[in-house]
Amino acid sequence: MPTLTGSCYCENIKYQVSLSSLDDARTSLCHCINCKKAFGTNYGLTAKMPKDTVKITKGTPKVHSADNGSGMVVNREFCDNCGSFILEYGEAAKDHFRFIVVGSLDDPEALPPKGEFFCKNRASWMPEISNVFHKTEIKE
Ligand SMILES: [Zn+2]
Ligand SMILES: [Zn+2]
Repeated sequence: MPTLTGSCYCENIKYQVSLSSLDDARTSLCHCINCKKAFGTNYGLTAKMPKDTVKITKGTPKVHSADNGSGMVVNREFCDNCGSFILEYGEAAKDHFRFIVVGSLDDPEALPPKGEFFCKNRASWMPEISNVFHKTEIKE
């Protein structure tokens, strides 16, 4: 069973992901306006995985919950010491999935992207990723 570890920048928060297969994680880029703000860069990069595969092993992340503008509440968890963004989940997915911020993994290359969402909001200077799916909007 592949086990991945991750942490925030200051390592006050650490977590572990235990997947039956690396294929159970779906990494995607999201170019939506909310991801740009939340990640502080031009796209969000998260890996969707079953909730029960993710365990916080050190510390307690702070949770920020807000309507993402379309009526759906999105919960974002981050370190209240260094500010690193760790994971997110929409209210509807709360009991089933976690979207791990890929840059917080100790080996971010372990889970390469499978798709891109909200391509209509892609930065004009950024090329498409080849060999992955592309959706104009909608992140599920
Ligand atoms: Zn931290
Ligand atoms: Zn997004």
